[in-house]
Amino acid sequence: MPPLTHKPRIPNPHASLLASMSHPIRQSDLNGYLDEALAPEEMARVELALRRDPELLKRVEAIHARRNSGMYSLGEIWRQARLSCPSREQLGSYLLGVLPDELADYVAFHVELVGCRFCRANLADLENQQAEAAESAEGRRRKYFQSSAGYLGRGR
Ligand SMILES: [Zn+2]
Repeated sequence: MPPLTHKPRIPNPHASLLASMSHPIRQSDLNGYLDEALAPEEMARVELALRRDPELLKRVEAIHARRNSGMYSLGEIWRQARLSCPSREQLGSYLLGVLPDELADYVAFHVELVGCRFCRANLADLENQQAEAAESAEGRRRKYFQSSAGYLGRGR
């Protein structure tokens, strides 16, 4: 079946809540990032820029390889830093699919590519909670329908 509506793809102007993150990344930012010497917002800004820009990622990997002879992967640095973890509320909204696109992208990047164990554990926990909540809501609904079916049955 062909799609009913054709949504034109508008280039993302990065004009959302992460607008401050679209400043150009300088070499000193990359160094500071590898040293984990930047403020948390700056760490997050660089991390996000790395995700968006494969060239920048190559640059930072090259710097990193020169420094450490590849002893640690970039993923390990990200895991160690854990400075840009989304909040539990954001993770919950992410599971429900109600985060703004850019933030959802960021969470996916952080959890899947960076593989933050802290956030993965948080997500697993939230997933259970949401499943339980859905189950008990379903249970209540069933009871309600059963009882109204009972009333209807008696009425006939
Ligand atoms: Zn995290």
